[in-house]
Amino acid sequence: MSSNEVYDIAVIGAGPSGLFGTFYAGMRGLRTIVFEALPRPGGQLMALYPEKFIYDVAGYPAILARDLVQQLWKQAVQFDATFRFEEPVVRLQQLQPGHNILTTPAGEYHAKTVLIAAGLGAFEPNRLPVPGAAEFENKGLHYTVRNKEDFLGKRLLIVGGGDTALDWALELQQWARSITIVHRFDYFEAHERSVEALQKSKIHVLTEHHVIAIEGNERLSEVTVAHVRTGTEHTLRVDEMLVFIGYKANLNFLEGWGLEMSQRGIRINAEMATNLPGIYAAGDIAQPAEGPKMNLIANGFAQAAIAVNVATKFIYPSARVYPGHSSHKKGMRYAPTSEKQEASHE
Ligand SMILES: Cc1cc2nc3c(=O)[nH]c(=O)nc-3n(C[C@H](O)[C@H](O)[C@H](O)COP(=O)(O)OP(=O)(O)OC[C@H]3O[C@@H](n4cnc5c(N)ncnc54)[C@H](O)[C@@H]3O)c2cc1C
Repeated sequence: MSSNEVYDIAVIGAGPSGLFGTFYAGMRGLRTIVFEALPRPGGQLMALYPEKFIYDVAGYPAILARDLVQQLWKQAVQFDATFRFEEPVVRLQQLQPGHNILTTPAGEYHAKTVLIAAGLGAFEPNRLPVPGAAEFENKGLHYTVRNKEDFLGKRLLIVGGGDTALDWALELQQWARSITIVHRFDYFEAHERSVEALQKSKIHVLTEHHVIAIEGNERLSEVTVAHVRTGTEHTLRVDEMLVFIGYKANLNFLEGWGLEMSQRGIRINAEMATNLPGIYAAGDIAQPAEGPKMNLIANGFAQAAIAVNVATKFIYPSARVYPGHSSHKKGMRYAPTSEKQEASHE
């Protein structure tokens, strides 16, 4: 889905920095679009440690990562930002300062400014390390759920023992004819409530097992699993298989974007500006030209807020960088309506 709309700001990444930046863009009255490679918001917090407590976010003596993401999400969606999940930005082209084209697998989008909050990079699901698995991708073997109806009446095998695996197993019970979970350990790395629900469900659980072979003619039809210690094998009749065995991330996608990089990320100045006018970076992906790099949620929040305020002035030169206090929210929308309308028809 391409869009001819010219957004004020495109945010790349819906981790904590991107979500807070999105909220802030809403506060400044900016038309905002957010791209996220994964199917859900939260970045590392949801992908790597949803069940861990975080102790160093201001205002929360202790908060579960997933709960913090929920709060950030609520805050980010208060305004009318457009969210595009499972749409990694693969290319950024600056036609001229104030006119950028972002390309995703779904199409092209235009934005006057860009906030890159892509953290460690685009997360990609780890592929099943079984010979021939790639041949069955989207022919019975999936790494994401696109449509629950695809599983209606099917014999479903889910591989993995984390939150994603359990959440989907529980969710798809109403759709699938049968569900088996295969997990290599004898414990699950998921929310206690989900593990309890799994125990009470009719889902067939095979712990300490891993997949060793996949068979099928055109489409996947059989999966062989083996006990990790004894090696005892079972072959299961399977219609659909979902694999959730973690993610890997890389920054290779930034090549060719024309950004000045350091070994540890995109170089930014004190205004969070990159070397390209109107393009900013915040959070783990940003490398300040001076001072320490700190991969902390709190740091990403501050950088995102600065970046969005500076971007607001870039788009609407009569706006102030300093937004005032949010407790005086009414006065936050600096861009005069006439100026915004003009800008949207440029
Ligand atoms: C195990 C662990 C524990 C941690 N504990 C703490 C803690 O207690 N306190 C603390 O402050 N910090 C902690 N951190 C660090 C913290 O998680 C990071 O600093 C924070 O997640 C950075 O947020 P971010 O939004 O900059 O990046 P991320 O959280 O990495 O989010 C970036 C998002 O951008 C998306 N993305 C990337 N490339 C693209 C693209 N091309 N197109 C679209 N989307 C893209 C990614 O999919 C991801 O969702 C911890 C980290 C780990 C791994």
